[in-house]
Amino acid sequence: MSSPAVSGTVDILVVGAGPVGLLSSFLTTNLGLKVLAIDKSDGPLKLGRADAMNARTLQLLQTLQSGIFDELYPQGLICNTSSTFKDGQFASRQSKWWEALAGCEHRHFLMLGQPYVEDILDRRLQELENPVQRHTTVTRIWTSSDDTAVFATLLHNDGEEEIIQAKYLIGADGSHSFVRKALDIAFEGEGIDMTWAVIDCETETTFPNVPEIINFQVETSDVARIPREGKINRYYVHMDSRDFTTEDAIAKIERALQPHPIKFTRIEWASQFTVQERIAKQFVWKNRVFLAGDAGHVHSVNGGQGLNTGLMDAFNLSWKIYLHAQGLANDMILQSYEQERRPVAQTVIETAGKLVRATKYARGLAPGTFFADSSTECRD
Ligand SMILES: Cc1cc2nc3c(=O)[nH]c(=O)nc-3n(C[C@H](O)[C@H](O)[C@H](O)COP(=O)(O)OP(=O)(O)OC[C@H]3O[C@@H](n4cnc5c(N)ncnc54)[C@H](O)[C@@H]3O)c2cc1C
Repeated sequence: MSSPAVSGTVDILVVGAGPVGLLSSFLTTNLGLKVLAIDKSDGPLKLGRADAMNARTLQLLQTLQSGIFDELYPQGLICNTSSTFKDGQFASRQSKWWEALAGCEHRHFLMLGQPYVEDILDRRLQELENPVQRHTTVTRIWTSSDDTAVFATLLHNDGEEEIIQAKYLIGADGSHSFVRKALDIAFEGEGIDMTWAVIDCETETTFPNVPEIINFQVETSDVARIPREGKINRYYVHMDSRDFTTEDAIAKIERALQPHPIKFTRIEWASQFTVQERIAKQFVWKNRVFLAGDAGHVHSVNGGQGLNTGLMDAFNLSWKIYLHAQGLANDMILQSYEQERRPVAQTVIETAGKLVRATKYARGLAPGTFFADSSTECRD
């Protein structure tokens, strides 16, 4: 299409306002670019999904000096230790994951749910008078004939359509990314046949309530307990099939904690996931469209890297687009996003994949296998 009827022009159109789209929008708006962030949802995430920020994410948020780190940090739980219980007996404990990390003041996980991250970033965009345009879906994407502009058709909840012209488009629209599919970018990789239950809950138990990640290794299942902010704990339970109930998962948790009894007093969020390991064939398309976060790469949640890797994509990309938009850098700076982030994403996929396979195939051989390796951070 050569001369579309454009209703608005921006520097960056950000498709998707999950954590990655929100951070990209915040950073680039703060730099003075004209940014439009859209999302089909009615607001930030309320419950569930990612549960931890790693040392590198904390470092980057801290360097922003935006108050975001200062608000989030006291709300989270500090955790730098992982222990393994095998058949009811203490087997091992380790907390040395962090020693190789250079330049980080906070060498630990900050256990804090993804909703906290989305909420503060969403509020910051409102304070910058650039709120996310919600109830809005992108339905078509194309570039100008000389590839200097990108156009998108937006569909609003009331059925109205409009066309936005942007210099750049960030596809931060999650693992089922419309942007990636619209540009026919392959999502290479595989799904592996493992299903996990995930339960955020409050419980009463005689098992010690310590701020450690606990891996329970028993004959019937792999179960991990993740300490969280407030009174919440998260349980991950390796299930035998996709077809299970929350009660089935709870039965496995009860078995794993024996001889300690456990009573579930409140279930805040219960869900399941099957493991996908995929990476987009291209992160950068015509130096105009960029895939970030889950739109570009997905992997097992083992290791707690999904949210973290996506936020680091946003950090890596935002200042590069800014310099390019200002004419202060050429296309090579945009290409460097792909050159730098692809190896990181690939390493995260491999590391998380090793962790999740260890839970299934090498139970008892690799202590602390659920969440215990954050070495991929060192690549960032
Ligand atoms: C059940 C579950 C548990 C998880 N647990 C963990 C964990 O413990 N640790 C961890 O690190 N990670 C975890 N993750 C992964 C983590 O949640 C993701 O890595 C993270 O949310 C990725 O952020 P994102 O912004 O890239 O994508 P998303 O959070 O998926 O956000 C994408 C946004 O795009 C919007 N959108 C989609 N399509 C369109 C469209 N066409 N138009 C407009 N808007 C659109 C969506 O509404 C959404 O708001 C978990 C994920 C799931 C599903």
